[in-house]
Amino acid sequence: MTSPQNTVAQFFLIRDRIAQSHKLFQPGTSLPTLIVVSKQFDATAIRPVLEAGHRCFGENRVQEAQGKWPELKKLFPDISLHLIGPLQTNKVKDAVAIFDVIETVDRPKLAKSLAEEMHKQGKSLPCFIQVNTGEEPQKAGISPSETEAFIHYCREDLHLPIVGLMCIPPVDDEPAPHFALLRTLAEKTGLKELSMGMSADYEIAVALGATYVRVGSAIFGDRNVYT
Ligand SMILES: *Cc1c(COP(=O)(O)O)cnc(C)c1O
Repeated sequence: MTSPQNTVAQFFLIRDRIAQSHKLFQPGTSLPTLIVVSKQFDATAIRPVLEAGHRCFGENRVQEAQGKWPELKKLFPDISLHLIGPLQTNKVKDAVAIFDVIETVDRPKLAKSLAEEMHKQGKSLPCFIQVNTGEEPQKAGISPSETEAFIHYCREDLHLPIVGLMCIPPVDDEPAPHFALLRTLAEKTGLKELSMGMSADYEIAVALGATYVRVGSAIFGDRNVYT
């Protein structure tokens, strides 16, 4: 973990780099939103970024988010918390209660469960469809060829508020073709938001039209235990 000063310095640096890439490659569009990925970092590490004025964060586990965000949300009520990790249907209730955006809608059963739970809680959380752009068997996500039909199901049958697509390219691939594919799929289906790009490739993602980038280790330093 880096020092609080360093975390904030890195945060501003990443924000500047996003702005530069955006200005160069996507002028005239709105500036992408930085999702500061705080998984495995506690409230003490996160606070300096909140105090610097940032409000958009990402977590990949429901239980971990429950441990740190309720307190922080009391102090900073305008936080927008994105779920960026896999969601089990038995955690949907808790996820809908604590998160503001769900980025990992990746199967019909989960989509249905989310729609029902949002209805119960009187909420309408913006959702992203996770697309398995690399068609990796072990990875979550809808395959590109099935994305259009799945979006249609989510919207027409479930009335789920789908706003965009997200992807995590295969680790050993050039990310650019995956980002370009995600963008093409979004254009075809009339979706506006694209969540793509992490610490290693967020500038490329911005150049290719990301509206959200998810950056963790470049801000907080390495996570040691697991990823
Ligand atoms: C951890 C994670 C990130 C952030 O990764 P970094 O390489 O630390 O920036 C982004 N997206 C998802 C889905 C993640 O799980």
